[in-house]
Amino acid sequence: MFMPRVRSDRPLPVPSGCAKLGLISQFVEIPDDLVFTVEYSVRPAQTAVYQLLNISREIPTITPHDKSWVTQLDAVLKAFA
Ligand SMILES: Cc1cc2nc3c(=O)[nH]c(=O)nc-3n(C[C@H](O)[C@H](O)[C@H](O)COP(=O)(O)OP(=O)(O)OC[C@H]3O[C@@H](n4cnc5c(N)ncnc54)[C@H](O)[C@@H]3O)c2cc1C
Repeated sequence: MFMPRVRSDRPLPVPSGCAKLGLISQFVEIPDDLVFTVEYSVRPAQTAVYQLLNISREIPTITPHDKSWVTQLDAVLKAFA
């Protein structure tokens, strides 16, 4: 799950050309999201359902915690604590 990956390694929630197939789980590609969270499991399911059923609702945005310097500093401090 935590191995390095490129965007083409995992299928999208609705693979290109599919009209009746939706994929869910931590192994579906959600750009910029972080695996091993409940949010990651929910987001592909929402994406697939909204897309396949033409539901116009917003997918909750991804909070870029990994870009936060507070989070990064906290990680460094914890790593050496
Ligand atoms: C110790 C631990 C702590 C965690 N802490 C957090 C946390 O604090 N915050 C957070 O956001 N996330 C946390 N996570 C991650 C989070 O729990 C998972 O990412 C999330 O539960 C995955 O949900 P899921 O529905 O995709 O898969 P799962 O919850 O794994 O659901 C998959 C389901 O499919 C069933 N299944 C599997 N194979 C078959 C089959 N062949 N036929 C029928 N059913 C099958 C399984 O029994 C299971 O019920 C933690 C995970 C662990 C292990």
